[in-house]
Amino acid sequence: MPCATPPTPAYQEKLASIPKESFLFGPSPIQCLPRLTAALGDKVRIYAKRDDCSSGLAYGGNKVRKLEYLVADAKAKHATHLVSVGGVQSNHTRAVTATATASGLNAVTVQEKWVPIDPPLYDQTGNILLSRLMGGDVRLNNEPFHIGHKTATQEAFAEIEKAGGKPYYIPAGASDHELGGLGFTNFVVELAEQEQTLKLPFFDTLLVCSVTGSSHAGLIVGAVAEGRGRKVIGIDASGKPAETKAQVARIARNTARLLDVKLVIPDEAIVLDERFHAGIYGIPGPGTIEAMKLAARTDALITDPVYEGKSMDGMIQLIKEGTIKPGSTVLYVHLGGQPALNAYSSYFGGEELK
Ligand SMILES: *Cc1c(COP(=O)(O)O)cnc(C)c1O
Repeated sequence: MPCATPPTPAYQEKLASIPKESFLFGPSPIQCLPRLTAALGDKVRIYAKRDDCSSGLAYGGNKVRKLEYLVADAKAKHATHLVSVGGVQSNHTRAVTATATASGLNAVTVQEKWVPIDPPLYDQTGNILLSRLMGGDVRLNNEPFHIGHKTATQEAFAEIEKAGGKPYYIPAGASDHELGGLGFTNFVVELAEQEQTLKLPFFDTLLVCSVTGSSHAGLIVGAVAEGRGRKVIGIDASGKPAETKAQVARIARNTARLLDVKLVIPDEAIVLDERFHAGIYGIPGPGTIEAMKLAARTDALITDPVYEGKSMDGMIQLIKEGTIKPGSTVLYVHLGGQPALNAYSSYFGGEELK
């Protein structure tokens, strides 16, 4: 008899049966960070899984992984337009525009005043430049930050329908949607395969930035379903952690239910550290900037001031204070975001010769 391969768990079979587009190069790379590890005293081993390098579509990032599922659904429903919302420097709306474009669909993105600052070229460079370059229909308004559903998209919806098109609504961050948690549930399946085939150590701690919540929620579902005791630590960058945590819990439980009715997400699995958001969405604090500099100046790992710099700050502090225990093997889940960096140049000097 041939060797028996273990049966695929029910949640993985269900996950594999849900249609998705193919927007990624393949599994995102995993990189060792030896100089950052050394700078933090060699107490834990630090790696990064580079979802910022996962796709050829307009610099990729976490939204592209989620959108593989949502765009497949949009196409199945014969949509002509993807409609979504974000801040002026939203990575998400850039990814919606990219995945729409690469699928032969149109994108309408409502871009709101989620961050109350106006540095030079804020509404002309970085992500918004890329959306315009791809031919996206970018619409600016003055609404403030909120991770919930936004009314301005309804107007775009009505307008597209009136013109005979079929719009498909994608909520902020592609999160609060029945398929929003699937991309990052699959991330854990992908990670476990990479650990095996690449002979990597078992990552006992996954660290991730959390705002609209479905990246974090998907990782929680993946880790709980897998049942190997991986910890998932979310670092809030929304500045409104109660709302983010509630949304993470809701998306995790809806995603679990969709994949396997027997899969229960316990409260203890939902961990969101609230100390590193620097008080507000979209604006870095001194700790954010220091963390960005340390990652850049050790392993040339580039993070952004809105999201990944805050989760980097969190990871560094959790290692220093021992919340991430010595001996751990940590995976920093890099979700992208570098295109926004240019809009934040004023935080990094370079004024000397003026
Ligand atoms: C959107 C985003 C996040 C937050 O992910 P959510 O799934 O919205 O919680 C983190 N980092 C980057 C770079 C992002 O674009």
